[in-house]
Amino acid sequence: MKFPSKVARAAGSGASVPVECCQICGSGKLDSVLSLGYMPPVNQMVPIGAVPHQQPWFPTNLLHCRECDLVQLGLAVDPVIIFPPEYPYTSGTTKLLRDNFADLQRESAELLGLTAQDLVVDIGSNDGTLLSNFKNAGYRVLGIEPTDVGKIANTRGIPTIQRYFGPDVAREVAREHGYATVVTAANCFAHIEDVHGIVDGIVAMLKDDGVFISESHYLIPLLDTLQYDTVYHEHLRYYSLASLKRLLEMHELEVFHARPIPSHGGSIRVYAARRGTHTVQASVERMLAAEPRGPAMSERLTQFRRDVVLSKLRLMAMLREIKENGARIAGISAPSRASTMINYVGLDEGIIDYVCEIAGSLKIGKCLPGTGIPVVDEAKLFEDQPDCAVIFSWHIADELAPKLRAKGFRGELITPLPVPRKV
Ligand SMILES: [Zn+2]
Repeated sequence: MKFPSKVARAAGSGASVPVECCQICGSGKLDSVLSLGYMPPVNQMVPIGAVPHQQPWFPTNLLHCRECDLVQLGLAVDPVIIFPPEYPYTSGTTKLLRDNFADLQRESAELLGLTAQDLVVDIGSNDGTLLSNFKNAGYRVLGIEPTDVGKIANTRGIPTIQRYFGPDVAREVAREHGYATVVTAANCFAHIEDVHGIVDGIVAMLKDDGVFISESHYLIPLLDTLQYDTVYHEHLRYYSLASLKRLLEMHELEVFHARPIPSHGGSIRVYAARRGTHTVQASVERMLAAEPRGPAMSERLTQFRRDVVLSKLRLMAMLREIKENGARIAGISAPSRASTMINYVGLDEGIIDYVCEIAGSLKIGKCLPGTGIPVVDEAKLFEDQPDCAVIFSWHIADELAPKLRAKGFRGELITPLPVPRKV
């Protein structure tokens, strides 16, 4: 198998490199899908009140590969810029994610018949939330996480190597901990730029019949619910099952089960193993058959671009009307995706007074990237009672809205996507 040799590599550049050929198949036939303009890195948050200083902004364009249908970012940014050691995201904070990882453990243990000696390795293990489920169920676990969040996992008793994952780390794991029965990569498999190196590394530490389970944002619900706000420089690739399958097959891995899961507004969980070691389930063909391919995908992406532009104009029109009536607007939660929406739509501290995060969030005390909008403890919302609040983590609005009401928020709640509306 010949892997693309021209693929963009930003690591070590201290800057960014344009994506000029497909990250999976190497084809140069890349069509432009959507441009969101220039964006600041979502995790570079300046402390409230700090003197504004120079910051990098990067072009944010989506491309579609005509050859393998992968939708991908048009720019690779050096990981030291997008995953700084002070990376403020912890995965243990939302109930939906905690429930999902518990489900992943139950489903995989049942499907694969795991036993207590089995080693489970999680790539991009964050604060150890995913692995804690496997640890509690009695398996050996090991996390790999490049940022300081890995220290939280270690203090919680989840052994974690604080390194960027690659073939070297994989060989070290196999040597020192033995081969893994299960390797998981949840919400990071689309983030790491050298995707062929990652899959090689995964194969190198898997037992002969070991299983690789990935969870990634899924392109189809992303298009269906206009989640352009999940486009930022951490997310290099937006997988369909067809494009994922093609990637894994380049490394002799066969997809044997796949299903949609609710994480991050619509994700896909995919099971793969060395060819012929596991029975391929009907779920694979079923999901593939429902995905647009080739010219149908191009057409779907054109419609997506038109709808995204309209959604920006509609949200602005709604907020304009609120401001014309003299009302005050706050924001609820500051996930990374809030940065894309705020910068693409053009919201600033003149429009949104502040954004709330629950107590304990590492983002409190900082400003949303590219703006002077402060992130504050949500206690302020209940004291201050602004007239309305935009829910930036709108994909979990059903979980959030009742909680905000129960805690006493009386203003109007707005979800900005897929269609701006009051809830
Ligand atoms: Zn391609």
